[in-house]
Amino acid sequence: MDIRIELAETLKDKPADESKLGFGHYFTDHMFVMNYDTGEGWHDARIVPYQNISLSPAAMCLHYGQEVFEGLKAYRTAEGKIQLFRPEENFKRLNQSNKRMIIPEINEDDCLEALMKLLEIEKDWVPHTDGAALYIRPFIFATDPYVGVRPADHYMFMIILSPSGAYYSTGLNPVKIYVENNYVRAVRGGTGFVKTAANYAISLAGQDEAHKQNYEQVLWLDGVERKYIEEVGSMNIFFVIDGEVITPELTGSVLPGITRKSAIEVCRSKGYKVTERRITIQEVAQAYDDGKLNEVFGTGTAAVISPVGHLKWGEKIMEINDNKIGTVSQMLYDTMTGIQWGKIEDEFGWIKEVK
Ligand SMILES: *Cc1c(COP(=O)(O)O)cnc(C)c1O
Repeated sequence: MDIRIELAETLKDKPADESKLGFGHYFTDHMFVMNYDTGEGWHDARIVPYQNISLSPAAMCLHYGQEVFEGLKAYRTAEGKIQLFRPEENFKRLNQSNKRMIIPEINEDDCLEALMKLLEIEKDWVPHTDGAALYIRPFIFATDPYVGVRPADHYMFMIILSPSGAYYSTGLNPVKIYVENNYVRAVRGGTGFVKTAANYAISLAGQDEAHKQNYEQVLWLDGVERKYIEEVGSMNIFFVIDGEVITPELTGSVLPGITRKSAIEVCRSKGYKVTERRITIQEVAQAYDDGKLNEVFGTGTAAVISPVGHLKWGEKIMEINDNKIGTVSQMLYDTMTGIQWGKIEDEFGWIKEVK
């Protein structure tokens, strides 16, 4: 793919104190952009200075939400190498999201190449502090100036980069979550498996309520029977019950997380029994009562592993593993972050280095 490159004349000052980066506040000097027009396909790939974009107030993405996105990170190793974790999986998933949202598919190899090129230019923006990384946000949205419901004819694909600190300010400390009984996040046949803005918009009310009640995240149940566990906040969820690692199977309403997939592979490689199946909140509560609920944790690119220490279901409160990080969670955290930051050998072949 031909990529036109226009470099910024002046570069921004990088945030001096990496411990105050937070998540998603700063953006680098450049971004990748390309356009789609029906008849022409994807074209005009370019890396240009990071800047505002101009859109018609009637741009379709603003009215009917035809949008998809991805999220991954670039990590700096102690030797100064910059590397990505399974990036081809993100572009593959972006195309699965595209299909569901009737957005024209992208060429996965070309987009990965564009990202590599952008990272080559923005290398210096990858944070040096342990736990901090450069968050990568590819996204596509409909731009036709038309207020009507139909798939668009014009789209923009962009990649922006944001140096970010550790996702949770509390670090690896276990989070407090409760079972959401009022709102649902997704139903089968809907868009639960798709990374699209709407899924996040509809999750905000539950999240807001949780925060008011001093909880960090909500545990989502299935939208039909409201008993099967699906996800925690915007992470996949795992349970360790009597030594067995269990995670909800991908039935269409659960997002197929790359961290989820990797955690399953890591656990299996270490000899754990891992089962993907439907699991009810009732079963989890029963395991807790029987003293068999060893661990609960969420998985996602932002936090990697997020242990759950306190789980509330109605009036029932479950304190898991004495509110401390468990053996499996710790092992997964150490293995995955070890591979990502180049501290341990990548025996799975998941790392792609930025030259
Ligand atoms: C992105 C996302 C995840 C985690 O996916 P990863 O590929 O592991 O980052 C989980 N749930 C939802 C709803 C998501 O949007």
